[in-house]
Amino acid sequence: MTDSALPIVDLRSDTVTRPNASMRAAMAAAEVGDDVFGDDPTVNRLQQRLAELAGKEAGLFLPSGTQSNLCGLMAHCGRGDEMLVGQRAHTYWYEAGGAAVLGSIQPQPVPQEADGTLDLTKLASYVKADDAHFARTRLLSLENTWSGHLMPRNYPAKARAFANRHKLGLHLDGARIFNAVVAQNSSLSELVAEFDTVSICLSKGLGAPVGSVLVGSRELIARAHRIRKMVGGGMRQAGILAAAGLYALDHQVERLAEDHANVRALAEGLADIPNLGIEKPETNMLFLTMPGVDRGALRAFMAERRILLLEMHPLRIVTHLDVDRAGIERTISAFREFFERHPI
Ligand SMILES: *Cc1c(COP(=O)(O)O)cnc(C)c1O
Repeated sequence: MTDSALPIVDLRSDTVTRPNASMRAAMAAAEVGDDVFGDDPTVNRLQQRLAELAGKEAGLFLPSGTQSNLCGLMAHCGRGDEMLVGQRAHTYWYEAGGAAVLGSIQPQPVPQEADGTLDLTKLASYVKADDAHFARTRLLSLENTWSGHLMPRNYPAKARAFANRHKLGLHLDGARIFNAVVAQNSSLSELVAEFDTVSICLSKGLGAPVGSVLVGSRELIARAHRIRKMVGGGMRQAGILAAAGLYALDHQVERLAEDHANVRALAEGLADIPNLGIEKPETNMLFLTMPGVDRGALRAFMAERRILLLEMHPLRIVTHLDVDRAGIERTISAFREFFERHPI
């Protein structure tokens, strides 16, 4: 049954991608300097490149998306300030409470709509009045893509009007914003135009081993730069890592469309399995609900066939550059075999 020669199909996350030989060659050849002195030409090129693509004044290279968000949030908010954020947004739920713990920012979590956005009419009731009882509401933090969902194209302008009305900054966790750029056949600058700061991951679907870039105004990025040093994110000859990011921007953006097509093919291949709940995919993620199924048994069954799934409910499947169509076909067959033996 198990063929150890079969390549592993790792559907746990798009963070599992490994740099290919060309990316490694670009890294090995990178011109470097001490980036804490601002001397690394490759880091500088990456920062400038993403700032230009985003239509912002400046960029800052950071080791992770979590740190990039943290520095962005702290650039907007001081001690005792508040940010409005989705209840299941990465900046609230998945960053170990960093905004509160390290930033002394009070998060005000807000229930999200099915597409991840916040209902702006309801959101107004969370903005605090200027009153000694309350924290100062200073920032609205949003996310695109959220759980694979695209932010509706007309939403950022509405969020900007809301932010202006309430004198808030506007941050975007754009860890997977390039998936939205490709899925919506848009440009980065169009999708992020309304935001003051945007955090972009190079280490997800873009396939770099490490790194995120925060973009925004010169003033906000200068603040984030000081905070990056404070939280230990000032790296030295980081051009070796930035070179991977530049390679990814040159060669691995358009191909995100393949990941989206692979998710659609997977959804179609599973569509007629009775009682399997399949959320309509929008980018590179597929969510499956399977009431009553022994998920441990499913994961073990798939692992025997060298297909790796996350332990997560509903089950999240993520495609990326190390999963090809053959891997998707194997995944469809394996799911079908499992659910024939264990009907839902
Ligand atoms: C992965 C991710 C991050 C954080 O990135 P790390 O590099 O893992 O710290 C932030 N936001 C979203 C939406 C993410 O998916």
